[in-house]
Amino acid sequence: MEPADSMKVIPIPQLSDNYAYLIIDTATDKAGIVDCAEPAPILAVVDSEGVELTSILPTHHHFDHVGGNDEMLKARPGLTVYGFDDRVPGITDRVDEGSLVSVGELKARVMSIPAHTTGHIAYYFENEAAVFTGDTLFAGGCGRLFEGDAAMMIKSLGKLRDLPNETQVYFGHEYTENNLRFASTLEPNNQSLTEKRAWAAGQIQDGKFTTPTTIASEKETNPFFRWESEELRNTLSAQFSDLPMDDVSVFAKTRALKDSF
Ligand code: ZN
Ligand code: FE
Repeated sequence: MEPADSMKVIPIPQLSDNYAYLIIDTATDKAGIVDCAEPAPILAVVDSEGVELTSILPTHHHFDHVGGNDEMLKARPGLTVYGFDDRVPGITDRVDEGSLVSVGELKARVMSIPAHTTGHIAYYFENEAAVFTGDTLFAGGCGRLFEGDAAMMIKSLGKLRDLPNETQVYFGHEYTENNLRFASTLEPNNQSLTEKRAWAAGQIQDGKFTTPTTIASEKETNPFFRWESEELRNTLSAQFSDLPMDDVSVFAKTRALKDSF
């Protein structure tokens, strides 16, 4: 399913493998930017699209997601900067779980999804079936547990997994090929995963992005959405005979293996 006509989303590469996303409300030509590390390429797209940038929607406080906020505010004074975590520079409008934020006439609901950082949030545009997940959910992967544990992350990812299948997922880093290579070590017989790996390799070879993915695709291919998978559990128990097979233990072991992959 393509995003609704009311919204246009343009991925903008940042730094070495980050994505910022320009969200355009096509009814008003107002725009918001999800994460901002390098303002120059963002402003180039804003200008070429002929839209008015009105807001920054930061996902979490890490430098590669908010390091450009101050410079952006100097270039475009008066921007609304949404934020939940005090460590995000330039916050003008404080938000929390369930808060509504606006890009023109488009509305997103803030979802609190901690564990990569305690203050990590997602922006869910229900009417447009799109969610911006920062470093919590990637295509084929999830963020490292810097400020939370496996139990916290499983809860955060569970909230995202409960979104409608057709929801487009716009993630924070182009890690897809590596993520899916790791996923294949746990589920070598997962046909959807094998197909997605081939597709992702083709996209990268062609100089294209692998963003967005969908909730449905992640349910089929992402080991961090698949702690219930029989094949994944069998792979883990064959290697770690003492591993308890509850959800959190399975997830924690998967995350630990990825950390050293
Ligand atoms: Zn991060
Ligand atoms: Fe990051």
